[in-house]
Amino acid sequence: IEAILLYCRPGFEAECATEAVTALGADEDITVVYEELSGYARVLIPGHLREAARSIRFSSLIFTRQLVFEFMSLTDLPEKDRLTPVLDALRQFNSFTELWLETPDTNDAKALSGFCKRFGARLYDAMFEEGLIQEDRDGQRLVLFWPDMKTVHFGVAQQGNRSEWELGIPRLRMPFGAPSRSTLKLAEAIHIFMSDADANQRFREGMRAVDIGAAPGGWTFQLVSRGLKVFAIDNGPMKGSMQGHPQVKHLRQDGFKFRPDKPVDWLVCDMVEQPVRVANLIVDWLEMGLARESIFNLKLPMKKRLEEIERCFGIIQGRLEEAGIQYTLQAKQLYHDREEITVYVRKLPSEREHQVKRSGSKGKPVKS
Ligand code: SAM
Repeated sequence: IEAILLYCRPGFEAECATEAVTALGADEDITVVYEELSGYARVLIPGHLREAARSIRFSSLIFTRQLVFEFMSLTDLPEKDRLTPVLDALRQFNSFTELWLETPDTNDAKALSGFCKRFGARLYDAMFEEGLIQEDRDGQRLVLFWPDMKTVHFGVAQQGNRSEWELGIPRLRMPFGAPSRSTLKLAEAIHIFMSDADANQRFREGMRAVDIGAAPGGWTFQLVSRGLKVFAIDNGPMKGSMQGHPQVKHLRQDGFKFRPDKPVDWLVCDMVEQPVRVANLIVDWLEMGLARESIFNLKLPMKKRLEEIERCFGIIQGRLEEAGIQYTLQAKQLYHDREEITVYVRKLPSEREHQVKRSGSKGKPVKS
């Protein structure tokens, strides 16, 4: 590995690179290379950190849309024939399973997508002929990342440690009848944080959810589509199909004060509010046993975004640990997130709940 290549939303290169450096557990000797608004960052890896770099996990990086382990770059490619130098360079390596050509998520770079398609097809054929692509081998996706027509970074995106979407951007269709585009945010979050099979388990018909800051109803729409009953808390109006829907109870109340009579399965929250207040509110619910899992947004209009996230995660982790609650915590800046990130916290069943389940008795605690 020469470098770690990270794709991100343009404008978040610094956060993206800093997170990777922190994950490497070192800041001396590390050079990060990025341009503001370029949509990607590269962290150059000195020899002694190669092992550490390999252990970086895509799922632990909030601002990274795609993680590529870069092993080579070519610059100043000639306009007339790019295929020859690219093929020459690739001949020194083992074969790969797939070939993806990608660009940063900027308007300039998107102009390269036609070139990537044409060049990619020619390169694939040439590689296949020489045995450099072997479709039956496991898991090595070769990525050629083009910031411009003259420069290409070669890397590998590893199975199980990457986004499966092109450019790390999920292509989600706007569902018919959804009252706002932000419906795609919750849809994307569910895709990112769990497998489809898991999602079908975690969101089931007849489950109950509370949606705080629900109006006009994009997130509520997602929950309703999955068969849940939703308490939609917002002083503003619900719109379109989410207005007066039989599975939706709209309550014009303050999201910080509302509490359900009985525990619900899910708490989701998309209020435009101070992140620390939101983090504390979510933990209140989990601590009181009012919800088992939660997906929520933390709005980050401030300059020091990473510090703010750290403060919020400190609150969540500190309070849940103090309460003896086992949990999982994941976070991502989704494609549909602008100056914000989306967080998923799930309470794990306690040892006692496990025992009750195993013994088959309903609700009676088991003596250990
Ligand atoms: N998730 C929604 C959707 O998909 O349609 C959009 C939510 S919008 C970004 C934020 C909402 O939070 C606004 O409708 C606003 O009225 C609501 N909100 C802000 N502060 C609130 C509070 N204290 N209690 C309840 N709702 C609040």
